[in-house]
Amino acid sequence: MLRTTGLSKHFGGVYAVRDVGLAVGEGELRGIIGPNGAGKSTLFNLIAGHLRPDQGTIDLDGRPLGRLPAHGRAALGIAIVFQAARVFRGMTVRENVMVGAHAGTRAGFWTAALRLPRHSREERLIRDRADAALARVGLTGWAGRPAESLPLGQQRSLQLARALCGGPRLLLLDEPASGLRAAERRALADLIAELHRDGLTIMLVEHDVAMVTRLADRITVLDLGRVIADGTPERVRSDPRVVAAYLGE
Ligand code: ADP
Ligand code: MG
Repeated sequence: MLRTTGLSKHFGGVYAVRDVGLAVGEGELRGIIGPNGAGKSTLFNLIAGHLRPDQGTIDLDGRPLGRLPAHGRAALGIAIVFQAARVFRGMTVRENVMVGAHAGTRAGFWTAALRLPRHSREERLIRDRADAALARVGLTGWAGRPAESLPLGQQRSLQLARALCGGPRLLLLDEPASGLRAAERRALADLIAELHRDGLTIMLVEHDVAMVTRLADRITVLDLGRVIADGTPERVRSDPRVVAAYLGE
């Protein structure tokens, strides 16, 4: 479904992502691990179209994404949940999620973000989808509350609901478990496993290597922007280069 070839991005003199080639199959759950600064978030931002590569290509279903902007990629079904919590303040939890249904169009995104009036039938449809997404992540009881009143764990769930509301084909999760308590982590891991079972293609960046090992079909390991290992969780975990990269952190 997704293939990157020779993907590179540098900031000043530092290569954040260097000559990365990887292929993710439809329905796969791919774990992406690596020490801090390995280039994991940069890779996701390149795929989602929030950054432009210096070199290399990204193909979705065999078609190059080229210079397609982020909202165009969202329309093709690429959804990203960012590492840092991003909720729209001054909006309810439900309104925050409804923004996700419009991420695929620039106009729609702003219509939702600014809460401009919309055709009421369309509005109801999107509201239903938002409520379904909220139910999926266990936030039904929070729908009418201000988004900024949510504890961190629920803000994460909110972002996940927003991504799901758009009906994605490829879900990019950037350290979704960071800052969560043990029980919240378990609930999140269960939800990710469920989405995977439902056939969603997922790329998961996570610091919690045990969680990735449990969930992923395959794992790609990045270090200093390069792929240093790629394979089944068992193979990757015992790879001496992986052990060295983590011990060197
Ligand atoms: P990871 O998510 O694996 O921790 P990042 O992709 O965030 O790694 O960062 C990879 C490297 O690129 C790091 O050295 C980081 O400092 C650098 N970097 C990332 N984003 C920027 C940016 N916007 N400007 C300058 N340097 C950046
Ligand atoms: Mg990161």
